Amino acid sequence: MSGSPDGLPPLREVIATHGLAAKKSLGQNFLLDLNLTRRIARAAGPLEGVEVFEVGPGPGGLTRALLIEGAARVVAVERDARCLPALAEVSAAHGGRLEVIEGDALQVQAAEIMTAPWRVVANLPYYVGTELLVRWLTPGSWPPGWESLTLMFQKEVAERIVAGPGSKTWGRLSVLAQWRCDARIAFDLPARAFTPPPKVDSAVVVLTPLPEPRFPAEPRLLDRVVGAAFGQRRKMLRQSLKTATPAAAALCEAAGVTETLRADDVSLEQFCALARALGEASAG
Ligand code: SAM
Repeated sequence: MSGSPDGLPPLREVIATHGLAAKKSLGQNFLLDLNLTRRIARAAGPLEGVEVFEVGPGPGGLTRALLIEGAARVVAVERDARCLPALAEVSAAHGGRLEVIEGDALQVQAAEIMTAPWRVVANLPYYVGTELLVRWLTPGSWPPGWESLTLMFQKEVAERIVAGPGSKTWGRLSVLAQWRCDARIAFDLPARAFTPPPKVDSAVVVLTPLPEPRFPAEPRLLDRVVGAAFGQRRKMLRQSLKTATPAAAALCEAAGVTETLRADDVSLEQFCALARALGEASAG
């Protein structure tokens, strides 16, 4: 086997040396093929001079790819202390461009650590993947501090993120993601690409923020109408929106949205119109 461009041992050897048997409870499904991890790194665009925030570097496969592809600085948050010695070797081999924070990514504010606009790149632990995505998509102000999110999800979650109206996977996550971002699937990865293989296939999603939302709406009110509509997705809006406002039919009329539609068929533009109408109704 040819050596790695960074002179470090192959990941299988790193895992054996440091005793990194995968823990299911931490969502550990490792990528050992550097060609694959470099493909993920490249999906984040040219990395020369770029700062990257990574969640869950594990034994360092994707981290090494990010550094080989030229990232100026990688800050990686890892919950499993067993991985730290292996990651220290990665940092040393790359002139200290890697900084590792031991801890829970849910407790770390990237905005307080990164010094320039940053990109998030991660093969996410699936048990917290959606929660992390929702946090990154709902910062205090827009546009966010990050320039893009390049994230590995279970394929089913990836499909929900990029779905459009009229599809069974169109839902709260699709609206949240697409209201203020371009979202696309870069490529799929079969379960067997991981060690150990998870139960389901995966996909890499790339999200790029728009300077402004596609349609104006108050984030809190948009979430309220979308949550109500998809909370009872089989019901017509005049019924399902009652959890957002008792005057659901009047809200539809004020927004110019047909009250007999079901959430599956309501477009992003219509959800935003409903959110604005809800705002006007509460103000009036
Ligand atoms: N990046 C490595 C790769 O691609 O092979 C590992 C990816 S593995 C799917 C997920 C990683 O996230 C594991 O290393 C796991 O220990 C770590 N992890 C799990 N929960 C975490 C959390 N709450 N915060 C930070 N890292 C976490």
